[in-house]
Amino acid sequence: MAVNKPQSEGARLDNFWMPFTANRQYKTTPRLLAKAEGMYYTDVEGNSVLDSTAGLWCCNAGHSRDQITDAVSKQIKELDYAPTFQMGHPLPFELAERLAELAPADLNRVFFTNSGSESADTALKIALAYQRARGHANRTMFIGREQGYHGTGFGGISVGGMVNNRKAFNSQLLPSVAHLPHTLDIERNAFSKGLPDHGVERAEVLEQLIALHGAENIAAVMIEPMSGSGGVILPPKGYLKRLREITAKHDILLIFDEVITGFGRLGDAFASQRWDVTPDIMTTAKALTNGAIPMGAVMVSDRIYDACMNAAPEDTIELFHGYTYSGHPVAAAAALATLDIYRDENLFERARQLETEWEEALHSLDNLPNVIDVRNTGLIAGIQFAPSSEGIGKRGYDIFTRCFYDGVLVRASGDIIAMSPPLIMESKHIDQMVSTLERAIKQAI
Ligand code: PLP
Repeated sequence: MAVNKPQSEGARLDNFWMPFTANRQYKTTPRLLAKAEGMYYTDVEGNSVLDSTAGLWCCNAGHSRDQITDAVSKQIKELDYAPTFQMGHPLPFELAERLAELAPADLNRVFFTNSGSESADTALKIALAYQRARGHANRTMFIGREQGYHGTGFGGISVGGMVNNRKAFNSQLLPSVAHLPHTLDIERNAFSKGLPDHGVERAEVLEQLIALHGAENIAAVMIEPMSGSGGVILPPKGYLKRLREITAKHDILLIFDEVITGFGRLGDAFASQRWDVTPDIMTTAKALTNGAIPMGAVMVSDRIYDACMNAAPEDTIELFHGYTYSGHPVAAAAALATLDIYRDENLFERARQLETEWEEALHSLDNLPNVIDVRNTGLIAGIQFAPSSEGIGKRGYDIFTRCFYDGVLVRASGDIIAMSPPLIMESKHIDQMVSTLERAIKQAI
């Protein structure tokens, strides 16, 4: 049985159709957050809730940072909105330059979006446009991965591999997509610390898919370097490097979806740097603005940008794609202030320094009842439970609600609890997260 506690009445809850939520269940026992600061939320009843998820993997610098608030309010007064279609304003140019400095290798060209989903679809469209621009117009197929999550646009759900996100919306989706197997292998890798030892051979399936479909028909392979929403699924040692080798050999683009791994989550700016594998295109969002204002960015290699430029006369639009809010001034101001905080407070390095303590603390849960795996990398952890007799996901949800009413926000994805705390976390917060989880796990169904 889930532990539920009614919260005070506020606005009527009927009208908001909530995303990725069991609306009827939630609305009988809502959990309403009212404020946030640093590592903590406060709910509408005044209870403090420690945030072990950085919101939804986005508030890497902790909540309600004055520097971001000030930048946003100053910007909204000065220039609330300006278009970026055949027009411009300085901030997205400045931000693109800052992002190019952070990005690996020659991923110097930045296309702005408003979310991770838009970043995913933008990356797929740029891959197609690039292939056409360089005379490979038949390269229209994509290869994604089981359990992959690239947001909820039609492109993202097609290349993504989460069944529930696809099946209600017609399985046809993008016409031509194949999927690699996921890399979760609890039998061989349970309770691994850092990247798992086993599973590099799953990258070889890419060779089989290429042999089956023909390299000349494939535009790009798109994966998350580390799958978050699919349940914290880590890349086995050597796996990403092998995917890079195979894609390079067959002249196929490699797209990393770094929407959750970006901006310090793994102790480097991007997973690409942490694991020393450079993709051709990288998608980001979330922690780009510390979650404060919606914004995403797709970073693209010079080679891809140049090919698209060179395929069109100088006075024509090279890419018929964009959003009213691409490079929105207020979002760009939030992002610039966020990047300043990451730099000035050395937050990426801080994540790296906390990693061992985080790992040790989480693995103290290894032997608790029903725990079948604890896995971690950077400041991420996944704790997987055997499903209860009440059904798949019931135990995960029960633990999530127990933790919440005991003062810690965790995220349940089926029977997996995912954690991704703000990078400003201190030892006392790790202690609170782990002891709260321990209580919840011992009492859970
Ligand atoms: N890509 C990845 C890897 C994600 O984890 C997410 C969201 O969790 C998205 C894309 C979608 O981002 P958004 O919800 O901002 O559209």
